[in-house]
Amino acid sequence: MAYLEQIGFLILLGISGWLIYKRVSFIKRNINMGQSYKPKGPSSERFKKMMLLAFGQKKMFDKPVAGIMHFLIYIGFVLINIEVLEIILDGIFGTHRLFAPVLGSFYSTLINFFEILALGVIVSCLIFLIRRNVLSIDRFHKSEMTAWPKLDANLILIIEIVLMFAILSMNANDQILQNAGAEHYTETGSLFISEMLIPLYNGMSVEMNLLLERFFWWIHIAGIFAFAVYVTYSKHLHIFMAFPNTYFSNLSAKGKIKNMDDVSNEVKIMLGMQQPEGDAPPPSSFGAKDVNQLSWKNLMDAYSCTECGRCTAECPANITGKKLSPRKIMMDTRDRMEDAGKHGLENGKFLLGDFIKEEEIMACTSCNACVEACPVSINPLEIILELRRYKVMEESKTPPEWTAMMTNIENNFAPWAFSPSDRFNWANELKSEN
Ligand code: SF4
Ligand code: SF4
Repeated sequence: MAYLEQIGFLILLGISGWLIYKRVSFIKRNINMGQSYKPKGPSSERFKKMMLLAFGQKKMFDKPVAGIMHFLIYIGFVLINIEVLEIILDGIFGTHRLFAPVLGSFYSTLINFFEILALGVIVSCLIFLIRRNVLSIDRFHKSEMTAWPKLDANLILIIEIVLMFAILSMNANDQILQNAGAEHYTETGSLFISEMLIPLYNGMSVEMNLLLERFFWWIHIAGIFAFAVYVTYSKHLHIFMAFPNTYFSNLSAKGKIKNMDDVSNEVKIMLGMQQPEGDAPPPSSFGAKDVNQLSWKNLMDAYSCTECGRCTAECPANITGKKLSPRKIMMDTRDRMEDAGKHGLENGKFLLGDFIKEEEIMACTSCNACVEACPVSINPLEIILELRRYKVMEESKTPPEWTAMMTNIENNFAPWAFSPSDRFNWANELKSEN
């Protein structure tokens, strides 16, 4: 029987590992569709930023209540994995509580600590469920947060509650079996949180407690494997993607808009600041119409988005009722990548037009508030600007007000319809009045 359990466990481990490997390879291929990108700033500074934002969750504490609950879930997820390591080793070697004899009395302290975390995760997840579904917090109810995104956000919270309840129930049955002197059930000492569940399972036969202990063990570990596979399809991929994403983000001045090198060079040559370099071919296109014309960092951003909506809540265009939502920009970029990854780039669809509409990108004021608000260093503005550059420079599609402004900049070196020589007339008028 023990061998059967071991074989079943190894099959489950192998299938989960294979599914995760396939999905991660697919995501990597999709991100590699993007153009080259070199992050600005020394790697030591970028590492520091990664530790503060991804590991330390620094920006989450801008909203302290949500920040503390999020931190509890995160730290619970990371630390409880130490117990999962023991469960995996037990599964492989057919042992029970492998670490208990090695750690001695410290084992009991450790498991009690994990149980406190497990309770904290359950409470935080319940509060998050209420916040999302009962309270009317605007950013959770925008038009892009219906159907799958809404279900995804709820599912993950429910799965976490089930996983934590399974581990506590497993420990409760384990304690009953220890007290009954069942074979292989190593003494763990009192486990204060799971002890509270003992009345639920007390008074049953030893066989029933054995069955329940194994049942919750399997629910917990199978749930963890299923969760690990599911996460790669979910917005919760940010748990892992936040690390490379913050590490590779730029350290250049906040709000600095990326220049178009081809255009800058052309202007410098016209002004005599630079010599033309041989017969350099003209750029094939300006801006981006599809995901393969964005940088790989823009694409990594899309896979790192937590769909938290902090960017949309700060976006002046969205607040004033425009169609633009920076969160939707990131979700659409990811959806198009998935679509192109599955059906090929040349499937007659484009990011601009089929996923993101002209009305959305034209509403952006380029204020940078979305970039400032994002807890994991995502830059929706960069994608918006690349799409807008395509519209303006490749399709010459601009609102009429912009055309007049751009003609003025070209002719008068300023957005106003005055000749440069008249620019200081107002000062001369002031002088003559005095
Ligand atoms: S930069 Fe654009 S998308 Fe971002 S907050 Fe400002 S207006 Fe919204
Ligand atoms: S871009 Fe950042 S702030 Fe906006 S929804 Fe995604 S993770 Fe949240």
